[in-house]
Amino acid sequence: MSIVTNLGFPRIGAKRELKRALEAYWRGESGAEQLQAVARELRHRHWQLQKAAGADIVPCNDFSLYDHVLDTAFWLDAIPDAYRKLADRDPLAGYFALARGAQKDGIDLRALEMTKWFDTNYHYLVPELHARQSFRLRGDKPVVEFLEAKALGYDARPVLLGPVSFLLLSKATDGSDRLALLDRLLPVYAELLAKLKAAGADWAQIDEPCLVLDQDNDDHAAYRKAYDALAGADRPKLLLTTYFGALGDNLALVASLPVDGLHVDLVRAPEQLEAVLDALQPAQVLSLGLVDGRNVWRTDLDRALALAQFARARIGSERLQTAPSCWLLHVPIDVTLETALPPDLHAWLAFARQKVEELRVLADALNGLVSTRSTLEVARDRLDTRRRSKKVHRPEVAARLAGLDAAATKRTSAYEQRRDTQQLRLGLPPFPTTTIGSFPQTHEVREARARNKSGRLSDADYDRFIAVETEKCVRFQEQIGIDVLVHGEFERNDMVEYFGEQLDGFAFTRLGWVQSYGSRCVKPPIIFGDVQRPAPMTVRWSQYAQSLTDRPMKGMLTGPVTVLQWSFVRDDQPRAATCRQIALALRDEVRDLEAAGIGVIQIDEPALREGLPLRRADWRTYLDWAVECFRISAAGVADGTQIHTHMCYSEFNDIIDSVAAMDADVISIETSRSRMELLDAFVKFRYPSGIGPGVYDIHSPRVPDVAEMVGLLEKAREVLQSEQIWVNPDCGLKTRGWPETQAALVAMVSAARAMRSWN
Ligand code: GLN
Ligand code: ZN
Repeated sequence: MSIVTNLGFPRIGAKRELKRALEAYWRGESGAEQLQAVARELRHRHWQLQKAAGADIVPCNDFSLYDHVLDTAFWLDAIPDAYRKLADRDPLAGYFALARGAQKDGIDLRALEMTKWFDTNYHYLVPELHARQSFRLRGDKPVVEFLEAKALGYDARPVLLGPVSFLLLSKATDGSDRLALLDRLLPVYAELLAKLKAAGADWAQIDEPCLVLDQDNDDHAAYRKAYDALAGADRPKLLLTTYFGALGDNLALVASLPVDGLHVDLVRAPEQLEAVLDALQPAQVLSLGLVDGRNVWRTDLDRALALAQFARARIGSERLQTAPSCWLLHVPIDVTLETALPPDLHAWLAFARQKVEELRVLADALNGLVSTRSTLEVARDRLDTRRRSKKVHRPEVAARLAGLDAAATKRTSAYEQRRDTQQLRLGLPPFPTTTIGSFPQTHEVREARARNKSGRLSDADYDRFIAVETEKCVRFQEQIGIDVLVHGEFERNDMVEYFGEQLDGFAFTRLGWVQSYGSRCVKPPIIFGDVQRPAPMTVRWSQYAQSLTDRPMKGMLTGPVTVLQWSFVRDDQPRAATCRQIALALRDEVRDLEAAGIGVIQIDEPALREGLPLRRADWRTYLDWAVECFRISAAGVADGTQIHTHMCYSEFNDIIDSVAAMDADVISIETSRSRMELLDAFVKFRYPSGIGPGVYDIHSPRVPDVAEMVGLLEKAREVLQSEQIWVNPDCGLKTRGWPETQAALVAMVSAARAMRSWN
């Protein structure tokens, strides 16, 4: 009999109960007891839910109060010395100090760095290690959570982050070789595994997601050493778990490791099944990742079943498990809670609970249960309506895209010529100042939006309110002497949602929350159909703002790659195809802004880098279509219209040619935290057009003084042409308050003026 398993469940709670409990605890409004009670309750509810949905084995230790990588560092005692005293005295306080920093009672600890978990929008805390790092068991969370599940009668499989991925995902603060720590790390894993076995665990799921990345010989040697060492330990059986892609050139190594089972992702990489079956050892279990843990669509069960049957024909059903492709952490919990979605779309969606139900159907079908036939038929029907839906397929979108030729992605003239035309039109001073778009989204702004949404504030009154805020913002910028103004984005809830709400092909959930990090969740839009723009989206507010001033007003759009990247996307066509549709809708918007007299238009692409595929070999293809999409959006304007883009990160070295190929007239980037070293990539590349290296960090309320910003600009001027340099903060100001925004921007304008007078 094949069994149904799951690899990991969302922990935040369908109504974000964990978020509320965490934040109440952090504010000091509740105690550790209360927080732990909510956590326990969520674990129980989620095990119960998975069991009821048909799981034979549920995961445990997938729960986390903040982040499972931090949990791992914590139980391994891989925590920097500075936190140790606090963690010894009060483990929970120590844990949250690592997650969020701590500043009270004479303690001043910064948070660990946070970074993206592979190519997801989940962020993990990067453990910090050093050459003399030692490890030991600190607490035994994995054992406790296993026992908790067992006591409730669940067949639970503890989930552990594997030792090699743990090291590879950490950073060595002294630049030493992380993998050299493996010898010291393995005994602690062995000790924990022995405890799990003693507690009654038959199996442990040991995640090594780094096995889908490019791994070199040293990495391979580390896996070999680790699993050889653990093979001899007194331990549960090990399911070596990989996800987010194909094993590819790591397969031969993986197949030779002495583990009891292997999980592979057959959603991202169905083509690897045959090679995996060829390589599987005789007694090993194979966990088939058949249901997409990264997206919200119902599975094509016929296709998934065909894969499973192929595997069964080779190794029989006893050794097979059906599973999601990866943890279900990346999808919302339960689509039945969505009462406001159009019924057709609702029927096409599967969230975590529905995904477990699908796995049940697949396992039952595999086990020959006749009753699955009707279920499979229903699924087939749903898929069929989706394939034929007129809301999904709009021939006019395809026709317009097919009609775009190469010229559509090219500006009329080369940059140098455009620059002169734009300068004649805009007449900007050297070192022109601008901002990235948003101004403080104060409590009043959010409140007005909420009241408007719930009907307590009429549309007309809301519009009047936004108009007043916009005017205040424009006057403020004029008064302090900013050169290229923005309208402030007060009308926007979120930089993707605002556009998605106005485009065909997008839908929004009520409770479709996904954890981004800690207590922070996002509710990504669902792109379900061909995207088109029924009407202009931003022209009205930009035009209004421009009408208030003689200075250039910058139009503000979210770029196609970023909209794509921060949404759940269609799985029935390539990402690139969806991105081109968004790009085309934005192109229309850009042209409408131009026609309305807006001479400067910024198309933000903060997520361009995040879209990079996990394997280097796939980068070129991605970057090519991503750049093409940006250019489709941007290139429909005349020479005199200045196109800006914005990317709030700092690593450009490996993508600079693509960034240059976007052919924006001006790019603003983050550099303030890295003291302008990040300009290196632009300098080496001889990046020709305008660059606004962020002169101050908007992520903190700290106000830098004029001298500090001048210092940064001087550094920029040493390596760039003066004519290239723009002066701006390093991202939008929406999370800041007005007092620090005012002070910082006044200082920024003074810094620009100082540069002008010396040059
Ligand atoms: N224009 C957006 C803003 O200012 C850009 C935000 C971002 O880069 N993340 O808020
Ligand atoms: Zn930004």
